[in-house]
Amino acid sequence: MSLLADLDLKGLVRTIPDYPKPGVQFRDVTTLLGHANGFRACVEGLVAPFTNRRVEAVAGIEARGFILGGAVADRLRCGFVPIRKKGKLPAKAIGQDYELEYGIDVIEVHEDAIASGEPVLLVDDLIATGGTAEAAVKLLRRLNAEVIGATFVIELPDLGGCSRLTKLGVECHSLMTFTGD
Ligand code: AMP
Repeated sequence: MSLLADLDLKGLVRTIPDYPKPGVQFRDVTTLLGHANGFRACVEGLVAPFTNRRVEAVAGIEARGFILGGAVADRLRCGFVPIRKKGKLPAKAIGQDYELEYGIDVIEVHEDAIASGEPVLLVDDLIATGGTAEAAVKLLRRLNAEVIGATFVIELPDLGGCSRLTKLGVECHSLMTFTGD
């Protein structure tokens, strides 16, 4: 039986107003991850659209994407690939920059993390504008990975992240949405 059916997953997400700056409603998933059945239900939901698909690797975006992505990889019986902030990976890496509200950030992946043509699933806790996820897709595609989809716990549809991924040809799934901020 699905754990998702019985649990109010959205109710387990804590909202912190004006963090990290005024006007932002921070959707804190640590309360959801700290709830035993909440965490299991989350992983179940993230995996559900991809259980009958060939996935060779799960790529998770630092940092909350590591917690969720590791569990998703275990469920799908495949490897995990970390996508990290610049300068954190020990071996040779390639980087992709993306725009923030103020300035530019860079994420990196090890250049030998994925074999050419491998089907990869992208995981993170939340998609807002989609800038981070788009950079991750570009990074994975530069390694000739086949990005078969992206799966998130939370989507902020007003900010258009999932549409942005869909335009890139990436199937996008989320377990819940928060609108109006
Ligand atoms: P974006 O690139 O705009 O899609 O932002 C996605 C990244 O920023 C994810 O790694 C999220 O963890 C984080 N993020 C953006 N907005 C929020 C928010 N309102 N609450 C929590 N995390 C957020």
